[in-house]
Amino acid sequence: MARYADAVCRLCRRQGEKLFLKGERCFSPKCAIEDRNFPPGQHGNARRRKMSEHGLQLREKQKARFIYGVLERQFRRHYQEASRRPGMTGENLLQELELRLDNVVFRLGFADSRNQARQIVLHGHIALNGRKTDIPSARVRIGDVIVWAPGSVNTELFKITAKGISSKSIPDWLDLSIAQMTGRILSVPSRGQVDTKVNEQAIVEYYSR
Ligand code: SF4
Repeated sequence: MARYADAVCRLCRRQGEKLFLKGERCFSPKCAIEDRNFPPGQHGNARRRKMSEHGLQLREKQKARFIYGVLERQFRRHYQEASRRPGMTGENLLQELELRLDNVVFRLGFADSRNQARQIVLHGHIALNGRKTDIPSARVRIGDVIVWAPGSVNTELFKITAKGISSKSIPDWLDLSIAQMTGRILSVPSRGQVDTKVNEQAIVEYYSR
């Protein structure tokens, strides 16, 4: 499956803000935005041009895509699903993105970044409702239970994750049993429960053109 394979810090520099794509490093002085907050490339240090309204909408859409690690085609699919559902399309879109299995694995603290969560799912370390699931885009529902696959609980990755999990903060639409390393979906997150800094209305306007 195609995937963005270039250095992810370039995406933050292009957007001009931290997108928190690398886990721990994003909170350290090593973050590229700290000392190089200008677009990558030979002329990146020139002044940023004023953006058109369309440019701003495109930027919000790209930002959401980068944050959730979703390629264009799949992002559009999430948007179409969101627009079919009743309610505000922008909020629905964020819910679609939040309810991806890879995002839930990240939100539960099983991974330091969504990128790592995606790898964990792809490598078959996660079971959804008792069945090993290696599809990062699988959509979870209220009541679903997410655990580490039985064959993965003896791995070094699991041990390191279990050791550090008590320091992670878990959103209140999820429940985590630290002792059992088991997560459960309590509800569909409302906009107020999603801390992703994107203007979802601008994304709706981008696709509505
Ligand atoms: Fe972005 Fe994290 Fe890289 Fe900083 S360290 S530029 S926040 S991905």
